[in-house]
Amino acid sequence: MARVLIVGAGLTGSLCAALLRKAAARPLHLAVWDKAGDSGGRMTTASSPHNLQSTVDLGAQYITCTPHYAKKHQSFYDELLARGVLKPLTSPIEGMVIKEGDCNFMAPHGVSSIINHYLKESGAAIYFRQCVTQINLRNDKWEVLRETGSPEQFDIVVLTMPAPQILQLQGDIVNLISECQRQQLESVSYSSRYALGLFYEAGTKIDVPWAGQYITSNPCIRFISIDNKKRNIESSEIGPSLVIHTTVPFGVTYLEHSTEDVQELIFQQLENILPGLPQPVATKCQKWRHSQVTNAAANSPGQMTLHLKPFLVCGGDGFTQSNFDGCVTSALCVLEALKNYI
Ligand SMILES: Cc1cc2nc3c(=O)[nH]c(=O)nc-3n(C[C@H](O)[C@H](O)[C@H](O)COP(=O)(O)OP(=O)(O)OC[C@H]3O[C@@H](n4cnc5c(N)ncnc54)[C@H](O)[C@@H]3O)c2cc1C
Repeated sequence: MARVLIVGAGLTGSLCAALLRKAAARPLHLAVWDKAGDSGGRMTTASSPHNLQSTVDLGAQYITCTPHYAKKHQSFYDELLARGVLKPLTSPIEGMVIKEGDCNFMAPHGVSSIINHYLKESGAAIYFRQCVTQINLRNDKWEVLRETGSPEQFDIVVLTMPAPQILQLQGDIVNLISECQRQQLESVSYSSRYALGLFYEAGTKIDVPWAGQYITSNPCIRFISIDNKKRNIESSEIGPSLVIHTTVPFGVTYLEHSTEDVQELIFQQLENILPGLPQPVATKCQKWRHSQVTNAAANSPGQMTLHLKPFLVCGGDGFTQSNFDGCVTSALCVLEALKNYI
């Protein structure tokens, strides 16, 4: 049975796994490895340590579907809407730019439920806290090394991490990437920002007329969402949760600072925007070093094939654009490149 490894349990990795499972002409052993402790990647949903039902989307907030992608990726949207994984975003987000014909969706169970849906469909064996460090060619197979655990061999490897993390991999892969491909990977750039999730006690009232707001007048804070309100799951038993996204200039300036210091700075600025908020019962400060793609790989057809036999391919928003449709496009391109090998 062909052994396939997908590195990354984000949207692109989970979609690749689900699409491969559906398209494969023969039985596959599918494994997904991620260095994080949970699924989602930049579509992660964090839970309060005090109440696992109190959650907050720390990365992607909502899915914007343009008329073009409503047609092109209709089956993906139809499936997620039919399963209740996505629902129309109906609560007000102040300052959101709405283009004619666009539809916005949110995930009532948190944005990571999209990824969990695809991982479940794929039937893949999923392993967290597996940081891939080296990829070597051994007897026409890929030998994949991770920080802990013994090396494993695969017939096909799909890499879905951000481009700078692909370039950090060691082993034979270093020499298999052509000079032109290296330049393309090096040209992929990302913005950086922080996200701060705040969890409040049940019954806490946050008295604002919006569920989300884009802020234009603060050097530190760009976006605030009352996450449970955005997802229409307000309840008297579960406390509200807030997420704050910083501006990119703030993210870049404080990239190497401690998250404790950054959290304190965000709190100080939040007091100017929402004065008198009570103390949260828990917080989660997330650094997004590779937040959204500002420059995708030039001339890329949504993926980059690094080697044919055995097959080694990279996908992800770095080859398209940073949103749901960018990841779907990339996963479909990975599948197209792979289809004769599965
Ligand atoms: C703050 C923020 C807000 C956003 N807002 C929106 C939005 O509102 N709407 C929208 O559509 N999109 C939004 N995006 C963009 C969207 O989240 C991304 O485009 C998408 O999640 C990228 O998915 P991916 O699978 O390609 O990459 P990722 O989600 O980054 O997945 C890659 C995975 O690879 C893992 N990994 C990395 N290196 C290794 C290694 N060496 N070994 C093993 N695993 C590894 C990582 O842990 C990660 O889980 C936002 C992103 C951020 C950060």
